Amino acid sequence: MGDVKRFVVSYGGRFINIDDGWKWLANRTTSIVVRHDITYEELVHKLFEKLNVDRMKFRIQLKFTVPNLNIPLADVVDDEDLQWFMSVHTEAALCVIADEYNAGEHELHVGVEHLSPIEDALCGRDEVEDIVENQIFFSKQQLHTRLQLKALKEKFHFKVKKSNPRSLTVCCVDTTCHWLVRASKIKTSEIFTIREYIPEHTCSLDVRRNAQIHAMSAVIGLHIMRRLDDANQSYVPAGIIRDMEREFGVRITYNKAWRAKEKGLQFLRGTPEESFQKLPSYCHMLTEKNPGTIAHIELDSNNRFLYFFLAFGPSVRGFREYMRPVICVDGSHLKGQYKGILLVTAAQDANLQIYPLAWSVVDGKTNVSWYWLFAKLKDVVDDSNQLVIVSDRKKSIKRAITRLFPFSHHGACIWSIEKNLIARYSSSNVIFLFKRAALAYRVSKFDQFMTQIRTIPPSMASYLERVGISTWSRAHFVSNRYNVMTNNIAESLNSILR
Ligand SMILES: [Zn+2]
Repeated sequence: MGDVKRFVVSYGGRFINIDDGWKWLANRTTSIVVRHDITYEELVHKLFEKLNVDRMKFRIQLKFTVPNLNIPLADVVDDEDLQWFMSVHTEAALCVIADEYNAGEHELHVGVEHLSPIEDALCGRDEVEDIVENQIFFSKQQLHTRLQLKALKEKFHFKVKKSNPRSLTVCCVDTTCHWLVRASKIKTSEIFTIREYIPEHTCSLDVRRNAQIHAMSAVIGLHIMRRLDDANQSYVPAGIIRDMEREFGVRITYNKAWRAKEKGLQFLRGTPEESFQKLPSYCHMLTEKNPGTIAHIELDSNNRFLYFFLAFGPSVRGFREYMRPVICVDGSHLKGQYKGILLVTAAQDANLQIYPLAWSVVDGKTNVSWYWLFAKLKDVVDDSNQLVIVSDRKKSIKRAITRLFPFSHHGACIWSIEKNLIARYSSSNVIFLFKRAALAYRVSKFDQFMTQIRTIPPSMASYLERVGISTWSRAHFVSNRYNVMTNNIAESLNSILR
């Protein structure tokens, strides 16, 4: 750890006076790693970032107890104080107090603010434009972020001079410098407008070397959020690091790039918690505006989200009237913070295109969740002896189908059988013969291939018989599964959506 040092940071607390001494009571502890020669300004910025405190509404005060001396707490307000703290303490915590600039006028706010769509449209621009007097911003947060991007781009460093719900004044960190932006709120709206802007810096270039401390994950997140909105392209942290270096000349760590991406996605889509909260009203509107839409949300005994099911009205009608009655079912793991399983049912139209029918989010591929899905699917698809359901050979799926769709026929996905064969026999001949047998239209043709299969490894024929010939052979299938021999269509849909 040569040139760096770890600070223990205690926050979310207050000092109380006990027996003529001060005691710090805090409920949160974390730590940060800093350079030995870190400046006070840099440390404060690092703490804002680490503790996720909104710097427009709060100022941070740093204090520490001086060992072996019964004197009041020491404040850390500049580089000298910081050096003192580092020289007397190696283990003790640095106490951080976040004070609201204008206590009482608005609620405590820690964290990132989700933007409304109109703001999204305005502030997700790739180019960082200059600011001008009378320019408007849809919130103070938006203005502040724009200033941070500007500071990053033009390599200077500003601080908040005054901040309250009605106004914001920022100036250069160098007290002798004239650079300044003063903005205030327009009457009853949330809109902020620039009242005064002095664009020239009179400080020396030395003062401006710390611009990269404005490269906070939330600022980068806001800058890159539009680039995250393309489902066909993945914008990975390495790309964010490269773009930040190219556009702003700052090097950020992998960690910061990763956090910036998370925040960008949050700005774009809101948090998963917000999405879960919106689900009931979303379902209500869907069923209201799309007749025939079927949506269900299942809660557990503690009123928490358990299962979700959705089938759009037009999808249901189209399937009933025009589709061959063959549906594929597949489940895959969701990638988000709350994991879960996405279950998808899909059909194939006459042009061999994927036709989504219904989807569901459940907690796992369990008997109960599959049963729940098929129970809801009964409102979408009628049970009949024409109906074919194709899936892999999970017992829980078969059990649910047997109980809820007793007239239908269950077809096995031949690709999942093929995968098993590859694992067991790893011979291309074997796979070739199995596929020919499975796809044969006539029983006589099937018998020919099956006879050959029996001559190669006898164990393979008995494995295929155990699986159930009628579930994987087109010729022996009791109903008509047409060309749908695998559940690839459901798998493809799953891989796009999850
Ligand atoms: Zn300046």
